[in-house]
Order: sequence, then structure tokens, then C-alpha cells
Amino acid sequence: MLSVKNISFSYSGFLAIDGISFDVKEGEVLAILGESGSGKSTLLKLIYGVLDVDFGLISWKNQEILGPKNKLIAGPEFMKYVAQEFDLMPFTSVAENIGAHLSGFYPLEKKQRTDELLDVVGLSKFAAINVQFLSGGQKQRVALAKALARAPEVILLDEPFSHIDSFKKRPLRRRIFKYLKSKKIACLVATHDKNDVLSFADNILVIQEGRSLASAPPELLFKNPQHPSVAAFFSEYSCVDGDIYYAHQIKLASKGPFKARVVKSYFKGGKFLVEAAYKGGALFIEHNIYIAPGTLVFFSLDKSA
Ligand code: ADP
Ligand code: MG
Repeated sequence: MLSVKNISFSYSGFLAIDGISFDVKEGEVLAILGESGSGKSTLLKLIYGVLDVDFGLISWKNQEILGPKNKLIAGPEFMKYVAQEFDLMPFTSVAENIGAHLSGFYPLEKKQRTDELLDVVGLSKFAAINVQFLSGGQKQRVALAKALARAPEVILLDEPFSHIDSFKKRPLRRRIFKYLKSKKIACLVATHDKNDVLSFADNILVIQEGRSLASAPPELLFKNPQHPSVAAFFSEYSCVDGDIYYAHQIKLASKGPFKARVVKSYFKGGKFLVEAAYKGGALFIEHNIYIAPGTLVFFSLDKSA
């Protein structure tokens, strides 16, 4: 188990991580969800041992993970870290970058392993291409494959899909998380995008300004966000009489109990997102047709929707 106990860290006086605790079991995926600047990258760097904690303790299987004060080379043997700014060997082929950390003693096994990883990240066709000629998203996929090459016990992924277009992202995410599960690799994945993790994480930790805001399995967190900042990650939401409702939980009705005035209808593909004014605040309603600004509408609330 990876155990993070009440850790804090400051960048010369600026408190970036403030008393965070969590556990990740073998083979589990923990998503660290937070907006830009919330401390996700700092948290991963502390866990990898690139930075020293000011307070608290980080351990894997009861063995403390040491920071740069006590360990010259960051990164325990069993852990891999794919940084937001991934570094690769630009003048070397995709296959060689991935195979760089595999033993060359058994060439056939090395080739099979490299091919398997190329397949996971969808780069089989690019095996022989030099990395310098790849797009940002392709480089990011090489970095992922490289980190997975020796099947670490723990992998830390910092915004791993950020450079990859949404068209390629969905199948890639499915393959990566399937691979992690099949090899029982524990994973911490930092992201600001719920789509990266909602279907794949065992637990989600939401952080804000270096503090833990919520922590729960995806379905529980979605159904019971507790805090507007948590709901904001999942969908458009509104606060009605002190409670949080997603846009799909508010229904337009022919009669009361609530009344609002439409401000604008946004086309969302299959549906419209209707913005309305209610008690001086904004209300967001999912609806199947366009409603003109200024229209007076009635709505009801349905948490079970
Ligand atoms: P995230 O990855 O969630 O975007 P970071 O961990 O990169 O957040 O940053 C958290 C906070 O720490 C931000 O306010 C950022 O400006 C600050 N920060 C990050 N790196 C440094 C640094 N090297 N020196 C000073 N402040 C930093
Ligand atoms: Mg970051």
C-alpha cells in the first residue's frame, strides 16, 4: 500500500500542499482531481521524491520514500513517473525510446514487449520514426509506453492525456487503464478533466489550493459532491435553496414549484443547456429544445435523475 500521511510542503514560504493524506492499495487507481495550480504536480513530485516534504510521511509497503535530502537519485526502483513535461531521446526511434529500459539480453522478449507497449499506446505504425518528428500527443504516448516498459509497481501520471486530441484520447485511456489493471500496477493520475478518470479510477481525491476537498469512489462523489467546487468538475450545476443540483436534475415543468427567467440556451449537441435567472443567481437546466431568452419557466428538482 502507498500511504501518504498528513504531508505539507511550501515553495519558499508559499504553502502548496497542506496536510494531505490518502492510501492507494496495490493495483488501484487514485485520481487526483484539481484545477490548474491546485498542487497536483507538486503532490506527485513529493511522492516520487523529487521534493522533500516539510511535514508528514510517504511510504510504500511500510518503507519510507525518501526525498532529495536523503536520496541522491529521485524515484524508487518500483515507481515510474511521467512528468507533465516528458523527456525523451529526440534523435532515437519510438521503439528504441520505449525499449531503452528493457534488457537486451533476450532480443525476442524485448521485441515482443516493445510491440505490446506500442499497441497499448497506439503507435505501432510509428515504431521506426525518430521522436523529433512526432507531434506533442504522440510524444506523450511514447513517454507513457516508456514508463510502463518494465511494469513498475506504482506509476505516477501527470496530466497524461493533455496533449492528445479527444478523438484518440478515449480509446487510449481505455487501453492504458486496462493494461494497468491487468498488470496490477497502482496508479496515481493527476488531471483537471473528469473524463480522464471517472470510468477508470477506484477513488478520486479532489484538491483545492493544496488541501483535500473530498475523497470518494467516482459514483459516490458524483452523486454526493458535498461542495460546489466538487460538483463543478463533473457538470454544470446550480445551488437551489442551499442544495447542489446538476443540470440534468432540474426539469422544466408546466407548473411550479419554482419559477425562473431564461437568459440563454446553449446548443450542446444532443441537448440544450438553458441558463436561467433564479433568486439573483444562475440556474442551469438540461432541456431537449431551445427556449428563447426572457421566457418565464417553471421547474422542479429531481436528485434521482
Ligand atoms: P497543478 O499541477 O495542480 O497545476 P502545481 O503543483 O504545479 O499545481 O502548483 C501548485 C502551486 O505551487 C501553484 O500556485 C504554483 O504556482 C506553485 N508552484 C509550483 N511550482 C513552483 C516553484 N517551483 N516555485 C514556486 N511556486 C511553485
Ligand atoms: Mg500540474
